[in-house]
Amino acid sequence: MPQTSATAPAARTPSGLREAHCHIGAFGAALSLPSVSECASLGECLARVTALCAVAKPGQHVRALHARPLAWPEGRWPTLAELDAAAGAAPVVIMSFDHHQGVCNSAMLAAAGLSAGQRVGPKGEVVSDAHGVATGLLMEHAAYAAWEASPGPSVEESLSHLRAGLRRYLELGFIEVHDLRTDLRLAEALVAMDLSGELAGELGMRVELFPLVQDLGPIVELVQTLRPARVRVAGGKLFADGTLNARTALTLTPYAEALPGLPMGQAMVTPSQVDDALRACDALGLPLAVHAIGDGAVRMILDALARVRPVAMGQRIEHCELIDPADVPRFAELGVTASVQPCHLLTDLPALTRLLPQSLGRVLPVRSLIASGLTPGALVRGVVFGSDAPIVRPEPIDSIVGATRGGATGSASAVAGLDRLSPGEAIDEATAWRCFEPG
Ligand SMILES: [Zn+2]
Repeated sequence: MPQTSATAPAARTPSGLREAHCHIGAFGAALSLPSVSECASLGECLARVTALCAVAKPGQHVRALHARPLAWPEGRWPTLAELDAAAGAAPVVIMSFDHHQGVCNSAMLAAAGLSAGQRVGPKGEVVSDAHGVATGLLMEHAAYAAWEASPGPSVEESLSHLRAGLRRYLELGFIEVHDLRTDLRLAEALVAMDLSGELAGELGMRVELFPLVQDLGPIVELVQTLRPARVRVAGGKLFADGTLNARTALTLTPYAEALPGLPMGQAMVTPSQVDDALRACDALGLPLAVHAIGDGAVRMILDALARVRPVAMGQRIEHCELIDPADVPRFAELGVTASVQPCHLLTDLPALTRLLPQSLGRVLPVRSLIASGLTPGALVRGVVFGSDAPIVRPEPIDSIVGATRGGATGSASAVAGLDRLSPGEAIDEATAWRCFEPG
């Protein structure tokens, strides 16, 4: 049930918040790139491409983020011919909001050296039609190949992106951000900013790092050597499955429109690899934060935690967008923190209702997790909120709307149909804000 009332107080101005899951470098970079998120149709997207190409320098690659073609009335990507007509000679690539697909024009195919039907990396494909002609659609690594065909940012540009990202978080009321896949270059930049006093002063931010388990060594050493005051290695990161929109999140029941050969999505690791990752982090005195979106992946990680019983506190499951009811109490029993992004319900609603209609009752059971012993906002045996920016925008109100299923004060933008997603798991607005507050 929506929990707001006509007499509810005005929406609070957020301050002192923690973003528990973002990609701060990529978020800062995305702020400087064009976005088609405001385009309401395929036609508007093509018009935006034409406008961007009109001001591009000769030979410059035109890149835009955040396409959501399933939300457009046309319900599809532009064709290669449409994009060629809109772009002219400029190479153009547009990335989907979840970074699992993209579309490009003929000039970009040539610039990136991609050809129809080509396989790129483990899951990438330059999609072709029945006649073997490229459609412009790029899957997974093929989309990254087109995206990365333009020269990357300089060190100075990366630093200015990082500052822009942190500044935006500050404006939104955050004082702490967790970066969930930190590489050495980002860690070095953050440590340098801390040592120069920038993080304590102008930006006023604490940053917690979660490098991939295999990247932990040099980053732990960097932080131990230079001892920054506001940057800390807080854990390792591991990916257990894919995503719901891509139908690769590992589920316990089949997808309505499964990928060929993947009726219930895909595990990215074996159980013994999860055990090894838990032990490697535990040896460093660190918890592991595991990306697990589907209920199958969540169970896989809880099983591993029950087997390995790591000593480090604050083990985390990231996303856990679907949880089998039998697994809900296991979080508290095993001392696990659920690091969730209720804001994703606003955008995952079409995918969830179309692909996993049988699972709508097990979407983000935050109320049950709290009732079973998790503490809102706690990093040990807690429920913490984040956005996964730049996948979606980091405005905290979006997760308040998601967690209350549209019942939040001031949420005029409540999404139609949100209350179809496990409505009994809605929490009240005050509890939802506590999930953003550092203890
Ligand atoms: Zn993430």
